[in-house]
Amino acid sequence: MKRILIIGAGGVATVAAHKVAKNTDVFGEIMIASRTKSKCDDIVRAIGRPDIKTARVDADNVEELVALMSEFKPDMVMNLALPYQDLTIMEACLRTGCNYLDTANYEPKDEAHFEYSWQWAYRERFEKAGLCAILGCGFDPGVTSIFTAYAAKHHFKEIHYLDIVDCNAGNHHKAFATNFNPEINIREITQKGLYYENGKYIETEPMEIHQPLTYPNIGPRESYLLHHEEIESLVINYPTIKRARFWMTFGQQYLTYLDVIQNIGMSRIDEVEYEAPLADSMVNGQCSMVKVKIVPLQFLKAVLPNPQELGRNYDGETSIGCRIRGIGNDGKEHTYYVYNNCSHQAAYEETGMQGVSYTTGVPACIGARMFALGLWNKPGVHNVEEFDPDPFMDELNKQGLPWHEIHDGDLEL
Ligand code: NDP
Repeated sequence: MKRILIIGAGGVATVAAHKVAKNTDVFGEIMIASRTKSKCDDIVRAIGRPDIKTARVDADNVEELVALMSEFKPDMVMNLALPYQDLTIMEACLRTGCNYLDTANYEPKDEAHFEYSWQWAYRERFEKAGLCAILGCGFDPGVTSIFTAYAAKHHFKEIHYLDIVDCNAGNHHKAFATNFNPEINIREITQKGLYYENGKYIETEPMEIHQPLTYPNIGPRESYLLHHEEIESLVINYPTIKRARFWMTFGQQYLTYLDVIQNIGMSRIDEVEYEAPLADSMVNGQCSMVKVKIVPLQFLKAVLPNPQELGRNYDGETSIGCRIRGIGNDGKEHTYYVYNNCSHQAAYEETGMQGVSYTTGVPACIGARMFALGLWNKPGVHNVEEFDPDPFMDELNKQGLPWHEIHDGDLEL
């Protein structure tokens, strides 16, 4: 029985905690720790297992993490806070002899830029310590990389073309909202596009390349080429790949709002200063002014709908999968489409969260389960496609994210 420490108390952590609490055959003691302890307590109440411990921790602070982990002694930390905390939590894992799992690669706060190099730099230290770090175990990255590994293991001698397609055909009935942390989400989608072709990365303007793609049970949706982190490790781990791209759907209204947000400067991630009247400073009809600093995107997060509260009125479903073309085991060219559709309402009924949190939190729990069973446990820092995909694919079917396959269909790409 493994002791699990979940860090973070947002939408993804809530779903993962519900699922970890259900996997009583492999997980023993559980603790949820985050910046705001009351949010951890709310999750425990919603699950209805008062034996789950909670704590307050600032995961930007290695010393605080080390103190908490030395006391609770987890076998694995599930990092479901923000990508900014990846390195501090990995550092604390090394200091306390704990294994690690996350769903998003490290990003520095002052630069909207994500790549694996910062976390891959920890490989040798994790190897030497005999500890395992599992990177990117959400849906994308996560299940999309495992889908690719499964295709490579069972259906293809060589994968040549990989297109990861992510459609959210849900409707939360808000004018504008993001489905996960608004700050992280807006940083991601306002970046330049990037894809891999013939050994090189090709950069595009944000949202420059788009085309309609047809999603199962949903129909055609305009899909936009984005830079996404799993491409970086997949083209290294599957060197026969000639081209790898990532597509995500956006509605016209969403894009219009996003354009406005960018054009008025609200997506800025640098500090801006403004003057505000100092409270209770009025003397003779004049008040003193004080200079206040804010990061516009962080301020925007505070006024946008909270992604955790979208679930109740969310209808429709997500559809995320991999469209692959390559040389099959029979030596002939084949296509393969493997995908999952997830209903926002079904996710909400089970966990109180919408489908995007659900599709991320469930794979995180399955990854921890793979570790707990000893099926995914090797010293070092590993992307999920470096492990055996088969037991993970079985669990997806059992834990709420069933997948489907189409062989030799039209990939549209
Ligand atoms: P939320 O913003 O809802 O939750 C983040 C949580 O982390 C909050 O509870 C927050 O605390 C906590 N937190 C932030 N900073 C700290 C800190 N310094 N110390 C301790 N706790 C902290 O985000 P989501 O749940 O939507 O997303 C969680 C992660 O999942 C993100 O990294 C995101 O990128 C990733 N993700 C991955 C996907 C995938 O498919 N791979 C898809 C979607 C998301 P507080 O409540 O006090 O603010």
